[in-house]
Formats: sequence, C-alpha cells, structure tokens
Amino acid sequence: MNAEQFQQLLVPLSLPWVQAAVRMDEAAQGVLLVVDGAGRLARTVTDGDLRRALLRHSPDTQTLAELPSRQPLVVRESASFSEIQQLLGTHGISHVPVVDAQGRPLDLVTSRELSQRIWLSSPHLGEEESAFVEDAFKSNWIAPLGPHVDGFERELAAHVGVSHGAAVTSGTAAIHLGLLLLGVRPGDTVFCSSLTFVASCNPILYCGAKPVFIDSEPQTWNMSPAALQRAFEWAQREGRLPRCVVIVNLYGQSADMDALLPLCERYGVPVLEDAAESLGATYKGRASGSFGRIGVYSFNGNKIITTSGGGMLVANDAALVERARKLATQAREPAAHYEHVEVGFNYRMSNVLAGIGRGQLRVLTQRVEQRRQVFERYRAALTGLEGLLQWMPEPPGYRSTRWLTCLSLKGPAVRQRRDLVLRTLERHSIEARPVWKPMHRQPLFHGAPFFAHDSGDFSSELFEAGICLPSGSNLTQEQQSRVIDQLRRALALAEVGRAIL
Ligand SMILES: *Cc1c(COP(=O)(O)O)cnc(C)c1O
Repeated sequence: MNAEQFQQLLVPLSLPWVQAAVRMDEAAQGVLLVVDGAGRLARTVTDGDLRRALLRHSPDTQTLAELPSRQPLVVRESASFSEIQQLLGTHGISHVPVVDAQGRPLDLVTSRELSQRIWLSSPHLGEEESAFVEDAFKSNWIAPLGPHVDGFERELAAHVGVSHGAAVTSGTAAIHLGLLLLGVRPGDTVFCSSLTFVASCNPILYCGAKPVFIDSEPQTWNMSPAALQRAFEWAQREGRLPRCVVIVNLYGQSADMDALLPLCERYGVPVLEDAAESLGATYKGRASGSFGRIGVYSFNGNKIITTSGGGMLVANDAALVERARKLATQAREPAAHYEHVEVGFNYRMSNVLAGIGRGQLRVLTQRVEQRRQVFERYRAALTGLEGLLQWMPEPPGYRSTRWLTCLSLKGPAVRQRRDLVLRTLERHSIEARPVWKPMHRQPLFHGAPFFAHDSGDFSSELFEAGICLPSGSNLTQEQQSRVIDQLRRALALAEVGRAIL
C-alpha cells in the first residue's frame, strides 16, 4: 500500500455509509479508517459493517457516526512484528491500524502481508543443481571429497581467474585456514576491516591472535587506505607489524585494491581477501577475491550463490592450497596408516554440496545481473529522494554485484529515523537490516585498537544511518513494489517525525 492508497482509507465520521461502500470498493482493503475532526481514529468500518447496514435497510443518509461500533483494536508505532501477529491471531482479525500518541492513524497492517514475508536475501536455485546432486547419489559419492568437489574447485577458480581452490564447509573455515596458512600464531596481531560480519574476525581469535580494526572510507564503504596507513605506522613504531591484513569486500563491492595493496606490500604483510559477500564482482576488470595472497568465498544460504553452507579458499600458490586441503582433512600425512604430526580440522566440503555449487556457479553471472536490476529498480523508484538518502556508492572501475542494496540516511537524528524505517518495514513483514555494527564497537572485541578514516569514525556513522534492503535475485517485481511503497511511507513518516515523538 503506498501513501495515496493509505490516504484513501481515511474517511470522516460524517460520511454517509453508502458513500463509504463506494470508497471501500475503490480502496480494496476491506476496511476504512474513520477519523474525527482532530484526525484521530474514531472507529474502523469493515465490509461486514456495511453489509449489516444494508441488511438493516439503513437510510442512505445515515453516517458512519451512526452505525453501531466497538472500540477499534489498534497498535502503537513501536509495536513489534510478533506483537501484531499475536493480536491478529488472538482476535481473528485481518488488519490492524497503527496510531500515533494522539491516536491518529499512521499505518495499516494486514494479515495477508504478514503471511507473505519478504526476505533480505533468500536462496535461489537454478535448474541444474538437482542433476548434479542426483549424480552424486547415483554414483554413491555421498562422502566428503569426490568428483564434484574437484570439479567445483576447478570451475570456481577458473571463473575468478585464480589457479587453485579448496572447497570447505564454510567461509569462516576458509578464513581460519587462510590465517593459519599465512602463519598467524598466538599473540600475533592481524589487521581487519571493522565494518563487517563477525565471521571475518572470529577466526583471528581461533588462532589466539589479536585483531586491530581499520575504519571504512566513504567512497567504497570498505577499508580506508588512510586508516590502514596510520595503523601500519603505529605498528611499526610499536615494533609489531601484523602477520596479515584481512580486507573485506562488503555487500558485493571490492575495496580499493590499488590503494590498499601497495601499502601492505611496502610493509611486507600478506593480504587475506574476504570476498564472502563479493563473488561475481570485479575491480578494474579483475574478479573480487583474486587480489589477496589468499581469497575466500562463502556459499552460505544468503550469499549470491549457495551450497546451503560452504566456502572456498583460492590462491595462485599451488602448495598453499594443497596445504589448505590437508589441514581441512585432519592434517593427515600421506601414509596408508593414519599418521599425524600437526593439528588439523574437519573442514572439507561434501561431494553432494559441491554438486549444488557447480549448478549454482552456472547461474552466477545471471544472479549478478538480477541483483543489479533489483538495485536499479530501487534507485529509479526513489529518484527525487536524494536529499534524504544516499545509495552505497559504486565508483568508476568498480562493478558491484549489489549483493545487498544498501543506503544511508542523511540529516539529523539518523539513528532514530533508521530504526523507524526498519520498524515500519518489519511491521509489514519485510526483512531489512541495519548495516553491520562495526567490530570495534562489539563487546567481543572490547579494547581492540581501532584506526579511523579521519577525525570521525565512518563505519560507526554508516552503522547509525545505514539500511540493507531485500535484494534476493528471486525477489519479484510485486514484492519489490511492496518494499518500495513501505519504504517511501516510512521515509516520509521519519521526515515528519510525528511517529517518533
Ligand atoms: C558470510 C560471511 C562470511 C562467512 O561465511 P560463512 O560461509 O557463513 O561461514 C565471512 N565474511 C563475511 C564478510 C561474510 O558476509
């Protein structure tokens, strides 16, 4: 329901019931919100109320004020999705008005919306996956390892232009192995982008190392070269250069590699590129994830392609990838008996899941196009609102996958306005999220050093103002229109500020 459709639901108490029937038909929501002279919700009128008026042979001139009524059930703006769901269920009703502190209607939530949830990023299977999985069954290759694992590694590595890949159980496992391969040991420090999902840096803790967090820059939302430079200068003064730098490519977009990589080279520190969110993106024509000594992808359920759960470590160094495979299979030595000299992990991807991955890889290019189209539709639909919000930028030379369409709100009280927008979307069963909460602000990493982009803290600003919108490649136009309508209304409400107050 967009703003005009909502306005159509508002009628005065003085309206004759026959005219209300006409309006009800036009508005097609099965309910009208009847307001008094001060704009407060006096009652609701449903199809049933009008049918009963008809059966009673009420005179045409009888007004809505004269129809029998009960106190309408309403919720306040702060009501959560589950509170609303419960209310609708308990009373067996199909819609509930949302009112502000003065009792004026702000919104209407329907049970139909609640039953048709729109997800942030849902899995999207193609047509070939089941053939690969069936093949795994038929050939009895259900065990971990097998021809699909080899095939998936080869095909993915080729797709991103890197020589070798090791398929593992998750992106997190790939990062853990990557850190170990780069020599991260207890007591070491590791630099890492602060604005990211915790999986980028949990493995630093698995290694007993200490993270140092680097801020984002406004141009890319990714690691700030200026902040990285200052972190290196500090580390050198302290006489403790990091063992490696984890550069994250956020929300489908590469970091500024031409600025970041020379810095790391100057200090002789290798890069682990966390491309979990950016498979399919390019930077100056080269695949995201192919820039670091080691690159990491994720095939978790919400990523651009999925194996339901899985990850891949890629590198041009054959020995490094071979070692990743060994560590991922309990570090078994090449001996017929089971010989072990170092600690290993059970991190290998199964042949069945690799089959899904091979099918998904064939639709990756299409998925990127679809996600970019989703972004384009949002951008086009909200043209004219540039004063209120800014899209995640895509500088020249970058090609983002728009894995998630992200925006940041502009202006005062952004945190409250962001929350209001998120609450409005959630109330209509639309899953949207704040931008990642920076790692240097997480209790888990309390006390970890942080280097800001400039005098401010840009990743925190993005966290306060940023919103990720539903962006799945299988989002229908109709679903997206629902998101756009609610987003527009939420932005308008947030502007007026009346719902917050
Ligand atoms: C999803 C993700 C990971 C981890 O991937 P899993 O496969 O879920 O373990 C790592 N880093 C980032 C930035 C991610 O978004």
